[in-house]
Amino acid sequence: MIPDERRLPRRASNTTTNNPGFELRMDKVECVVIGAGVIGLAVARRLAQAGREVIILEAAEGIGTVTSSRNSEVIHAGIYYRAGSLMARMCVSGKRALYAYCRDHGIPHRNCGKLIVATTPKETEKLQSIRAHAAANGVADLQTLSGEAARALEPALNCDAALLSPSTGIIDSHAFMLALRGDAEDAGAACAFHTPLLRGRAGAGRIELDVGGDAPISLECGLLVNAAGLGAPAVARSIDGMPAELVPTAYLAKGNYFSCSARAPFSRLIYPVPEPGGLGVHLTLDMAGQARFGPDVEWVDTIDYAVDPARAERFYPAIRRYWPALPDGALMPSYSGMRPKIVPPAVAVQDFLIQGPRDHGVGGLINLFGIESPGLTSSLAIADHVGELAEV
Ligand SMILES: Cc1cc2nc3c(=O)[nH]c(=O)nc-3n(C[C@H](O)[C@H](O)[C@H](O)COP(=O)(O)OP(=O)(O)OC[C@H]3O[C@@H](n4cnc5c(N)ncnc54)[C@H](O)[C@@H]3O)c2cc1C
Repeated sequence: MIPDERRLPRRASNTTTNNPGFELRMDKVECVVIGAGVIGLAVARRLAQAGREVIILEAAEGIGTVTSSRNSEVIHAGIYYRAGSLMARMCVSGKRALYAYCRDHGIPHRNCGKLIVATTPKETEKLQSIRAHAAANGVADLQTLSGEAARALEPALNCDAALLSPSTGIIDSHAFMLALRGDAEDAGAACAFHTPLLRGRAGAGRIELDVGGDAPISLECGLLVNAAGLGAPAVARSIDGMPAELVPTAYLAKGNYFSCSARAPFSRLIYPVPEPGGLGVHLTLDMAGQARFGPDVEWVDTIDYAVDPARAERFYPAIRRYWPALPDGALMPSYSGMRPKIVPPAVAVQDFLIQGPRDHGVGGLINLFGIESPGLTSSLAIADHVGELAEV
């Protein structure tokens, strides 16, 4: 995420307008990936390392400028997702792959753990069912702590009881994306920035693409991976031959964050017991140890990343349930991200929707819809799944 100015130079340094790897005169390529967010980069790396010729088309000026830079940077354990769902499976396998990748590539990360905190007897009762649900998802390492044991770990905490998730962590997502891009390019992939996909035509196992930007071109590919994030439904709809009825409607659920002017005295992530419809106002830490609160859930119709300061009023009482010492006036509007929803507000739960030719009948097209949290954690597992669908 980009909570403050410190991150901006790093984003700018990602910008590449004249990538020598992308040959603008090229009219045929084996694989095209739409979107250079964390998912498109992980997929491009996977395909290129399997020996495929890959070009990433990205509308923006650099990698990871949209949802991949507007999230919590948490490596999720995989506790809450519906058992058997893609989210549950890919979060757990993606988490393992991500920790291994971070270790192998020197990506800044911290396996700091998280506490799920119950502040009432009713919430304490729920902890056991959360633990059982997690175990069914393959997250068998949760530990139940008394209030006293939790306070021994985090003395500033108010709680009756807690669950400790030792496998939760945090990651420098920009360093991760730079490494994915580096791997992909080392294996021969190329990124083309300022290069939006405008439309495509599918037929006879090939897909023809019209690409905009400063030097509009048409090119043909055998495999198109639609990893356009919030734009994925629009991209799918723009492919002539893709059945429109199989393209989900896009909805936006904004997540607002507040930073804290006081130093929060926690070294683990702190989450309340989830309520219907959301995880509650939780505390996460960035790699510098700075606390932020959120994201909340605000369903919106248009993309506007401004954070309304008035929303802080809902954050204070929620945070004070587990951190009573939060000072008045400490919360400051920070940044926001948009969840790429494919279900309306009335439907509480969604899963990743990954469609290959067997699902929609269009040869060579793979669509990735609804890749919201835990998409960052799951990115390497999603890339492996796409690799399997593409038979590489
Ligand atoms: C508030 C919030 C908090 C989150 N927290 C976490 C977390 O802590 N842990 C976790 O695991 N996950 C988290 N996630 C989820 C994670 O951020 C996403 O799953 C992930 O970033 C999605 O990556 P992406 O590559 O699919 O999308 P994006 O990063 O949005 O990338 C898509 C790219 O496609 C490009 N594009 C779109 N249309 C076109 C076009 N026509 N032509 C060319 N390019 C195009 C866009 O410019 C963009 O760069 C969070 C998400 C949100 C919203």
